[in-house]
Amino acid sequence: MSFSSLNLCDPILAALSALGYTQPTPIQREAIPSILSGKDLIAAAQTGTGKTASFVLPILERLNTQRKLRGKRIRALVLVPTRELAIQVEKSVESYGQNLKISSMAMYGAVDAFEQKQGLILGVDILIATPGRLLDMAHQRALHFDELGFLVLDEADRMLDMGFIEDINKIIERLPEQRQNLLFSATISKEVRALAKRSIYNPVEISI
Ligand code: AMP
Repeated sequence: MSFSSLNLCDPILAALSALGYTQPTPIQREAIPSILSGKDLIAAAQTGTGKTASFVLPILERLNTQRKLRGKRIRALVLVPTRELAIQVEKSVESYGQNLKISSMAMYGAVDAFEQKQGLILGVDILIATPGRLLDMAHQRALHFDELGFLVLDEADRMLDMGFIEDINKIIERLPEQRQNLLFSATISKEVRALAKRSIYNPVEISI
């Protein structure tokens, strides 16, 4: 199977080919069509399986075809447990979206928030954030979620292990109800299932 059979647009296919990706990994083969069809998803997948591209590629594809409403609002939110993962996922968004006009930013704690606020003012389509800093920014009214269409919970088990559950719940309360939800986790524990039950509707389940 090739990436071109997955209904991704030419600018994305060109980026993948420039990166030397010749074929989708198993999780990409399963997740991409399901996300493109608008379904919620729970995926049990370890790092190294290509899980990041499995949600970044279809989100880029969908955002690229949707009309921006006001143009400066967040359209996809990716919650991650650590600063390192935020930076890494943002780099993936940039490289897969190198031929598209879709902006992204990584937002995390323990650094001055000024630059991150400036970034938000300029407009961010895909925000990749750790839960604590995201909630701080939301409390400061620096974030608007009214055009948000995608929520990704990446490494959900690690976020729960790190005690982010209350922050995640508070964030979800602020999001529009009409959105597509994607949850990725190395293991689907009882706690992860409980989180999924509250935030995800009738999902497709994938296990790699
Ligand atoms: P991840 O599981 O998202 O952390 O990705 C693991 C690594 O695989 C990353 O370095 C990606 O750049 C790489 N990768 C993801 N998808 C593919 C693919 N289809 N072909 C080759 N490399 C890939």
